Amino acid sequence: MNAQDCWRGSTRFTVFDGDYGDGSRVEALVAAWRADPDRPAHLHLIALAAQHGLQPGFHRIPQPDAGVTLDLLATSFETALAELNAHLDFIRLAKPDGSGFARPLARLTALEARLVAPALDPGQRAALAAQGFAFDDSGSGAVFSTRKPRLPVTPAPERRALVLGAGMAGCAAAQRLCARGWDVTLIERHPRAACEASGNLAGIFMPLLSRDDNIPTRLARSAYLYALRLWEQLGGIGRAFEGAQCGVLQLARDAQHAAASRAIAADGLAPDFARWLEADEAGMLLGLPAPDGAFLFPQGGWARPGSLCEALMDACGARLTRRFGVGDVRLARVGDAWQALAPNGDIVGQAPTVVLASGAGARHMPHTSDLPLQALRGQVTHLAPEFAPQLPLVLCREAYLTPSAQGLRCAGATYDLDDDPHLRAASQEENLERLRALVSDPHAAEGAPLAGRVGFRCVAPDRLPLVGSLPDFAAAGATERLRDVARHPGLHGLLGYASRGIIWAPLAAELLAARLEGEPLPVEMSLVDALDPARFVLRARRAPRGPAAATDIGP
Ligand SMILES: Cc1cc2nc3c(=O)[nH]c(=O)nc-3n(C[C@H](O)[C@H](O)[C@H](O)COP(=O)(O)OP(=O)(O)OC[C@H]3O[C@@H](n4cnc5c(N)ncnc54)[C@H](O)[C@@H]3O)c2cc1C
Repeated sequence: MNAQDCWRGSTRFTVFDGDYGDGSRVEALVAAWRADPDRPAHLHLIALAAQHGLQPGFHRIPQPDAGVTLDLLATSFETALAELNAHLDFIRLAKPDGSGFARPLARLTALEARLVAPALDPGQRAALAAQGFAFDDSGSGAVFSTRKPRLPVTPAPERRALVLGAGMAGCAAAQRLCARGWDVTLIERHPRAACEASGNLAGIFMPLLSRDDNIPTRLARSAYLYALRLWEQLGGIGRAFEGAQCGVLQLARDAQHAAASRAIAADGLAPDFARWLEADEAGMLLGLPAPDGAFLFPQGGWARPGSLCEALMDACGARLTRRFGVGDVRLARVGDAWQALAPNGDIVGQAPTVVLASGAGARHMPHTSDLPLQALRGQVTHLAPEFAPQLPLVLCREAYLTPSAQGLRCAGATYDLDDDPHLRAASQEENLERLRALVSDPHAAEGAPLAGRVGFRCVAPDRLPLVGSLPDFAAAGATERLRDVARHPGLHGLLGYASRGIIWAPLAAELLAARLEGEPLPVEMSLVDALDPARFVLRARRAPRGPAAATDIGP
């Protein structure tokens, strides 16, 4: 039995393949989907691809067909089952170990789903049968049924949304929703997109590394890789938007940091993802001293966020309505919908779903003012070519220096707790001090005039973004579980992108859009939970809120 024999009559059909193999099965299925006039509107393919040179974790691979989604899971079968959030309509099992997989597999299986599993032993068949898989006479095919409670199925949404805030978060949300056929009204107080945190000349993008591959590292890796793939689909960095995938060199701080970095490298990193370079090699690449060595991220680089916003909005096509220059908008609940109201009371838009992507502005909005968000001032310094060396790639440590962007090199950035929107000589001096240490030249940028830009990062205490349905603090009750926290109906957040908005924006938008559609999610459930805005409801109950740390480890 093949998946295409079973998908007639479905609008969305999800296939799980326990072995991606050489990819030919997935290719054949997509070809069959294209050729079938009775195909489901959406085909979602999930395949285990643990041996394919992919970084660990889930990978959503953008496809040329808008109706096809491909998720490659570089993980074990057991972990995939524990971390997936999906309703599987067709399952092909390779040769699983043991029989412990039967129960978690059943949890993910849709009623009436088909299973094809020619290589099972009798014990495995019995375990599956006990969970509700009724095998045919051949013993290799089964149909699933059960009376046990299932994962809730999200009803088909009304595909209309207001997205509040036209920075990177909002523009990415609009693009991922419009790609799914949503009509989006993007609302912005300024006359143009990217006037606040997303207005910098150049921001850098790179992954994070850690010895214990902790949650922030896994999330940043997923976000970075998804962003690279999505940008390629948009038309490419330096083509569809300004920037360069020139590589990022992250210098070690000292000998101790170098030793820790070597230990991470020894755990095995794909060279196109991250490579540890000893001092000689790093210095040769940079053309400057790199005394303690460095990590090279060959696919990293810089981008101008504003041009990325434009490319994302262009990709939305006619489904996007821009309502810019409308002043500080507030939200009102009217019946089952939300209205966005301009300061003079005019209705700017109305829809059942709202995505709040208002960056640091969220601190002043009633539905998000209870979230522990902080605005962290950052000043970046712009240097004419005569004041800073021309580098072949982005250089960073505590600070960063970019190659030329619109003829200027960007050095940054400060982390300040005050709300001064003006350029400050003291902040510039701080940037230049760090720059001098970075390029090993005590006279670098001497006499550079005060120039640059100030912005405010929206930062949560754990430095991770907030992605998902917004909690209602007043109605939250005393629950200890994320899924039981009361939420504002139809109100979602994409907030807290802190210092990594460029990579967070695409994955967070894709995750939220997938959630709204009830699709399988693009990242592991443990990572989804780490981004849930309601985590702060639970934390507020467990411990009184403390002040967030004032420094960060990088851009
Ligand atoms: C100095 C500095 C350096 C940085 N460097 C990097 C870097 O190198 N790499 C990187 O990845 N990230 C960097 N960042 C972080 C990055 O810029 C942010 O994470 C990102 O821009 C956040 O995007 P956003 O869309 O969430 O917020 P914003 O870009 O601030 O967008 C929010 C939008 O919402 C609008 N808005 C808010 N409230 C309302 C309202 N009530 N009504 C109407 N509109 C409203 C605002 O006008 C704004 O346009 C840096 C940030 C700063 C400040």
